Amino acid sequence: MPLKDTYILLGSAGSGKSTQAELLKSSLHLAHIDIGSELRAVASQDTLLGHEVNEIINVKHSFVPDEVVFAVLLDAIHFVPETVGLLIDGIPRRESQIEKVLEVLEQAHRSLNKVIFIDVPEAVSVERISKRYACTVCKRNYILGKNLIDSETPCRYCSGHIVQRMDDTEEGVRTRHHIFQKDTLPVINYFEKTGQLLHINGDQETYKVFQNILKYVRPE
Ligand SMILES: [Zn+2]
Repeated sequence: MPLKDTYILLGSAGSGKSTQAELLKSSLHLAHIDIGSELRAVASQDTLLGHEVNEIINVKHSFVPDEVVFAVLLDAIHFVPETVGLLIDGIPRRESQIEKVLEVLEQAHRSLNKVIFIDVPEAVSVERISKRYACTVCKRNYILGKNLIDSETPCRYCSGHIVQRMDDTEEGVRTRHHIFQKDTLPVINYFEKTGQLLHINGDQETYKVFQNILKYVRPE
């Protein structure tokens, strides 16, 4: 049986990447490996590695070393049957990770079809993310101007206090956007040269972004 498609999904905070990942996953029946969630899952395990990763992510707020990231990625990929398509989300984030990610895919007998890059201007990132709020008690998400009138309003489900996420302030978003640009642009350029890049304008309605992606990734 031929191996199923493998895609990589990249996009900065506020690009709508998570929404598109959900849409792709359900409409193309892909297994979705979000490296961030995988690492957070490892961090919650009561193992030696779990404690180590937890310390890095939740205490030091630092980057997990590449060798751990790749071990976790390989593990997650091996868990997906070879007959199931795969959507890898959030890696490679840096140029130095490209070769290793391709190696991991090769070890899993998968070849990369497309790298989907959802591109949004910094102003759009800021605009979208600075409107994100969450309840401190039940953790439900709110969007200012959509289902939240002002930040003084209590949570409609539990009357909890509603706040902005700490790094979701305008300055925090700008910083994250700059880091993403600096780190990930070389990755984007690399896959542009190999002809595998699918550059998507993320500054459109969700369904339009999704239709643009589907034009190129819909299986035959
Ligand atoms: Zn609440």
